Amino acid sequence: MRTDGSALRAAAFGALLACCGIAPATEAQTPGPGSLVAAVETGHCAADETFAIAIHGGAEFWRGDHGPKIAVAQGLLAEARAVLESGARAIDVVEAVVAAMEDSGHFNAGKGSIANQAGTVEMDAAIMDGRALDAGAVASVKAVRNPISAARLVMEESRHVLLVGPEADRFVRENGGAAVDPSYFHYGGRNFDNVPLPAEIAIVPPGDGVAPERAAFSGAWAGVFQGEMNHVLVVEEIGPAGAPDGAPSSAKVISALGPHPAIGEGQFRRLEGVFVEGGLKVSEPSDLGGYTTIYSLNPDGTLAARGSLPGEAPQEMTLERYSIPPKAQDGGTVGAVVRDRCADLAAGTSTGGFGSKAPGRVGDVPIIGAGTYADNETAAISATGHGEYFMRYVAAYAIVAAMEHKGLSLEDAATGLIEGDLARKGLRGGVIAVDRDGKVAMPYNTEGMVRGATTNDRPPSVEVY
Ligand code: ASP
Repeated sequence: MRTDGSALRAAAFGALLACCGIAPATEAQTPGPGSLVAAVETGHCAADETFAIAIHGGAEFWRGDHGPKIAVAQGLLAEARAVLESGARAIDVVEAVVAAMEDSGHFNAGKGSIANQAGTVEMDAAIMDGRALDAGAVASVKAVRNPISAARLVMEESRHVLLVGPEADRFVRENGGAAVDPSYFHYGGRNFDNVPLPAEIAIVPPGDGVAPERAAFSGAWAGVFQGEMNHVLVVEEIGPAGAPDGAPSSAKVISALGPHPAIGEGQFRRLEGVFVEGGLKVSEPSDLGGYTTIYSLNPDGTLAARGSLPGEAPQEMTLERYSIPPKAQDGGTVGAVVRDRCADLAAGTSTGGFGSKAPGRVGDVPIIGAGTYADNETAAISATGHGEYFMRYVAAYAIVAAMEHKGLSLEDAATGLIEGDLARKGLRGGVIAVDRDGKVAMPYNTEGMVRGATTNDRPPSVEVY
C-alpha cells in the first residue's frame, strides 16, 4: 500500500500543531549479565535434553545500525540457554526475556515504546502457554512497567484473556504488577524517531557570505500534518552563490515523512530548494505530486510552512528545531518463543505499536492467533510487522493450522506463509517460531528482522539482515 504522500499532505496541511522533538528522559540500559538467571527458577524440566529459544527485536523496514539491540539480544540468549539447560520452564523464560527487552529501552516495547499520534505511549502485549492453551493479553496500557508480565497476570489472576486501557492498568496495579508514570518512558509526547531519515546526513554549516536570514534555515526541523503524519525537513547545505548579487540562491534539503496508513512505509526525498522572496521554496517534481512548500522563519525561531498543490489555496503548518537521533536505531517490537526440557511451548510478544498509530489503536500483538500463539501439539509463534495484516490473516494461527491440518513442517508452514502466500497479500513482517521438537524458523519479508536463537546444540547467534 504505497501511495504518494502529497495527496494526504494536501488534505492534512491545514491544522497548525506545535510539536516538539522529544529527547529520551533517561539513558537506555543494557541488562547486566545474570539478570535473567536471577529472575527465572530452574530445576523444573529434565524430561529430555532438547530445548530451544528464538527471540525477535522487530521487523526492520530500512537498513540501519542495530548494534545496541544485537548486544541485548545476544546477552539474553546466552542467559536463556543456561537457564533452559538447567530446567527452567518455557513460560518463565518467555516472560523474563521479553521483560528484559522491555526494560532495556532499546526496543519499541516497555520503556522504549514509541508514542502514538497524540504523543502518548500505549502498549500491547500477550503471552501464551502451549500446555493448556492458556493465554493472557493487555492492550493500550499506559502505566505498567512490563506489559508482558501484565499479560501473564491477566492469564493467571483473571478469568479473561484480554484486558484493555485504564482498567487493565488498574488490574495490574491491584494484582501487584509494577506501575510507572508517563515519565518512565523514553518517548513521552511527540517523537519523530520513526521518520526514515537516510543514515548519512551531513549538515554543512553555512559558509561566509551567507545572509543570516538564509543561514538560519540550516539544520533539521520537525512538524506534524494535522496531528497525523510526522514530517522532518533537513536543510543539508545552503549555496552555492548564484543570484546576481552573489547571495546564495539554493539549498539541498531532505523532506521526510514517517510511516502512515495513507502512505505505507515512511519515505524521504532529496530535493533542491530555492530562496525566493518570503523564504525557501521546495517543490516536488510534478511526477511525484508537484507539492510546493515555502518555508519562512518565524521570529520565535520556528519555521512556518505554506504548502499547496498546483492551482490550490495554500495551507499552513509550523516546524520546530529537531535534533537528529543518533545513528544507532532503537525500536522494534519484541518477542520470544521457547521449547523447554519438559517439551512444553510458550510464546510472548510486546510492543508500543505501529509508528504514527492513532490513539486507541490496537495491533496484532495482543490478539491471540494474530501476533502470538502457542500450542504444545504444534508450535509457538511470535510475530512482528504491520499488525493490521497479521490480524486480518490470523497469521500466527495460520502457521499452526498449516502444520496441523496440512501436515507441513514448521519451516514450510512459516516460510510458506510469511515469504509466500501472505507476502503476496500485502503482509509485511516476520515471525519467530519453535516447534515441539525444538526446531526453529525465523522467516521475514521485510528489509530485515532483529532475530536470534539458541538450542541445546546451537550456540546463540543474532542477525538482522
Ligand atoms: N506488529 C506490531 C503492531 O502492529 C508492530 C511491529 O511489530 O513492528 O503493533
